[in-house]
Amino acid sequence: MPSDPDNTPKRRKRKPKLGDTRHLFAALREHLASGTASLADMARLASDGLAADASVIYVTRLGEVLEMAATYGLNIAAVGRTRLRVGEGIIGMAASSGDILNLADAQNHPRYVYRAETGEEAMASMLAVPVKRAGRTLGVIAVMSREARIYTSVEVEALATVSMLLAEILAKAGASDVGDEGFSEKLPRRYAGHVLSAGIARGDILPYGATPPIARLLNDDPNAELKRLNVAVEQANKNLDGLFAANMPGGSTSRDVLEAYRMVAQSSGWLSQVREAISDGLAAETAVDKVARNIRERMRRIADPYLRERLADIEDMIGRLMVALGGMAPKPERADGLILLVRRLGPADLLDWHSRGVAGVAIEEASASGHAAILARALGLPALQVDRGAVEAARPGDPAILDAEGATLILRPEPDVVQVYEHALEARTVRAAALSTYRDRPAVTKDGTEIKLMLNVGLALELDQLERTGADGIGLYRTEIAALAAGGIPDVAGQAAEYGRVLDRAKGKPVQFRTLDLGADKLLPGEAGGGEENPAMGWRSLRVGLDRPAILRRQLRALLLGAQGRKLSVMFPMVATVEEFRAARDLLEAEAARIRPAPEELEAGTMLEVPALLFQLPGLLAEADFISVGTNDLMQFLFAADRGTPELADRYDTLSAPVLELLEKLVAACQEAGVPLSVCGEAAGRPLDALAFAACGITTLSMSGNAILPVKAVLVEADLNALRPVLRELRRAGAAGGSIREPLAAWAREHNLAV
Ligand code: PEP
Ligand code: MG
Repeated sequence: MPSDPDNTPKRRKRKPKLGDTRHLFAALREHLASGTASLADMARLASDGLAADASVIYVTRLGEVLEMAATYGLNIAAVGRTRLRVGEGIIGMAASSGDILNLADAQNHPRYVYRAETGEEAMASMLAVPVKRAGRTLGVIAVMSREARIYTSVEVEALATVSMLLAEILAKAGASDVGDEGFSEKLPRRYAGHVLSAGIARGDILPYGATPPIARLLNDDPNAELKRLNVAVEQANKNLDGLFAANMPGGSTSRDVLEAYRMVAQSSGWLSQVREAISDGLAAETAVDKVARNIRERMRRIADPYLRERLADIEDMIGRLMVALGGMAPKPERADGLILLVRRLGPADLLDWHSRGVAGVAIEEASASGHAAILARALGLPALQVDRGAVEAARPGDPAILDAEGATLILRPEPDVVQVYEHALEARTVRAAALSTYRDRPAVTKDGTEIKLMLNVGLALELDQLERTGADGIGLYRTEIAALAAGGIPDVAGQAAEYGRVLDRAKGKPVQFRTLDLGADKLLPGEAGGGEENPAMGWRSLRVGLDRPAILRRQLRALLLGAQGRKLSVMFPMVATVEEFRAARDLLEAEAARIRPAPEELEAGTMLEVPALLFQLPGLLAEADFISVGTNDLMQFLFAADRGTPELADRYDTLSAPVLELLEKLVAACQEAGVPLSVCGEAAGRPLDALAFAACGITTLSMSGNAILPVKAVLVEADLNALRPVLRELRRAGAAGGSIREPLAAWAREHNLAV
């Protein structure tokens, strides 16, 4: 349908009823069906549909400038001429904030900028809606009225829907039609982030959980479309039942959690919003996508983790619904060599994708000490936390480079960039070969200090790392990882077999088995975390074990059975008081008294993750056989900084005066009491941190397999006696608590240490 040649609003015979979105959608459908809807058409339809006096569409040029691309009711000569910077004027403000602006008196708004050529002086009110797609602002659409008025929520919703359709039109039009390379989905894109598991991977991208471009935006028959939705809801529910039946261990707690998930995920609130949007004329996928966008927008503003989690449940259900509607592909059977790009990823899902063959993982919401990251490091799988928006922007099959060293995800890299990475990958192979020469060397520093380097593992498939790395033993065996991988806790025989295999493979090298550390971000499938506000500080880990001792006792029994008379070291996580440690050790001893053959030696140690333990050292050292510092949790409790929050990932540093002082004091207390001390948090696997810890007197470090050789390579070249005065000086200078990483790294590099 041609656009109005003289661009002047006609006198309407009858003003459309305010908020008559059906009228608007019917007109949009007609235009879109012809496949030739122009921006001018969209402007006219928006103005007419909302009974406004004028409308305007601005598009983003080169990410910085908004250019008027169409108008209805304003001076058409301004099209292509009027430009605003992002952030300038009301239009620019809508673009920069991403917010909808609904102003009764726009011209008297402090941010209003007057452009004489537009002829907009006659207009009083303005409703401006950013046009967003894949996390990017493609432009702004606004309607205006002479009369000063606030647009109703129905009208706001209607213009938001028009903006969504406009976003699809702009994206589909691509570079050629709208004359702006910024819209092209073929250009390279880079996403910054944080390294979760070091490595580089090259392969095609597999975005999972993104909303694909929607083929059909509007429906011709709302009733048929509602039927389609109902079938899809039923299908998604059925899939959910299947998933739960397959993965849920029994127990009423699990069932409660399940029911809670089901209630939220299937709650009628958001589904009725979807139904409403379908009745208004949207296709089912578009309607679901629209509601999903609203939910995501709300999630971004919500700080409360419990509510975020509930919204995440809904988002999860929306994903299932999209799959059922055919708008989103189910998980592929195989994903060999692909780079997975997701919003969130739990440890169980990470294992699942690993078994499907992915070469690397990029996650929008994750942090280095979260468990998906720990697992990725254990598996040697390159993983990166990337800026939000990547999932929506990537197209399946786009070539990509996951640089989990330079902390960048590159989509559709240019050939010269590919070449650079090919060289880097070659260099890595060379470095790996050089590092392997350290495998059989003891980790003795230049000043003669012997450091034991142990492994953090949690899966049978990681045990070959003992031989591969020449590690001195297993400093942290995370027993919950196998449970997470299996989707439930195995029975006593199953657990005993696993622990026995670990001791077999260790061939007499020490192994410290940590009892189940479930809760917080390590949830078995279907366990929604009990709705605590602060699950990391909640009823988790040993706290559950002591309050519901049956599971802990079964595990202790399995450990004793698996040991079959060999030495057994058991370590308890999340101990906050000596009393808790004593209660746990008593359970271990009670089980040990019943099991034959008794272990030739039985050790009970504790993780040091809760700061309160530092103030009970005399009591603790009198009772614990060993202590291992879990810096991941200790750091989060010490600095009150959630380990899973990417924004806080670099804010507090283990290489800072307070942490190093804590460690030094702990070393002194343990030495005096003759209690072995180690550090097993992720920091121990970072060469520079390991070096500083060694200088503070820590002589046992436990880390993931791929960290052993790089750490050893630094330690054997380091002189701790030369480092100590430097460290003292840096700590004095950094007494205000900030990081001393940079100057320490500079010292290390000056001394040819590969930190
Ligand atoms: C720690 O908290 O540092 C630790 C090693 O335990 P996890 O990472 O499993 O919580
Ligand atoms: Mg911990």
